[in-house]
Amino acid sequence: MTRLHILPSQPSVPQKVLIHRRAPSGGLGDRYKGGQFIPNDLWQAEKRKAESALPDLLSGFGDRLQFLRQVYVQNSELIKEGTTKVKLVPLSTIEWRMKAAVRETYARAFLLGKKAAGNLFSATPAEIKAVKKLRIEEFYWLRNFLKDMRDEGGVMSYEKRMDMYRAAAREIYNVGYVIGNQSPNRYLKWQTEVLRNVKESCPDCVRFSNMDWLSVADFIRDIISKGYICQSGKLACKGYLCGCGILEKFVGPETSGMQNQVE
Ligand SMILES: [Zn+2]
Repeated sequence: MTRLHILPSQPSVPQKVLIHRRAPSGGLGDRYKGGQFIPNDLWQAEKRKAESALPDLLSGFGDRLQFLRQVYVQNSELIKEGTTKVKLVPLSTIEWRMKAAVRETYARAFLLGKKAAGNLFSATPAEIKAVKKLRIEEFYWLRNFLKDMRDEGGVMSYEKRMDMYRAAAREIYNVGYVIGNQSPNRYLKWQTEVLRNVKESCPDCVRFSNMDWLSVADFIRDIISKGYICQSGKLACKGYLCGCGILEKFVGPETSGMQNQVE
């Protein structure tokens, strides 16, 4: 499994308890505001755990959708034939289950991204709102997808569509990864060929990777605010063909973003 985030040559600092200190401007109260009283090795382990939990989340999500899709198609056909004496699970129920799978997976993907960035706090109201917005777009595609399954229409293969949903979950993970830690000393780079060894030919991905290292604030302003992130459906490569990932580095000591989160 390719690592998504590379932490370049961090000197191992023998700090045991407090990993992020504010400048000692005020008294103790100010200094420990938003204090992260978590041992460094435990914190690093949490980050790694979040990162490695993503593939399982994505494959579980794919399985869930695939199963529901099969039931949906079977039931649609049985209803059309009109011959069954068996009481079927209503299509609306299956649709609801699919939406629940999207909702739960996206919320979890966002949190995993945030955790992988070092921020162990739960999602803020603003973040929940942002995830919801992304999800609403997916529900629009999901409705079309269900319609196509009923009518046996649609130009894109079902498998490809499943790939798109998985990519969308990874997209949300990436959003969480970027915005979850907005420490001023954190720098990010859009890197091609992280997930797959395929030369990236998508003009969007190439353009963003050519921006090289950006402060997290610039990354948000120049990329995310314009609706882009690795695996985004808005990219010319449609996201599910995107093998890009985000690299991270810190100027000075590694930070978690938790000290900036006051909500
Ligand atoms: Zn890409």
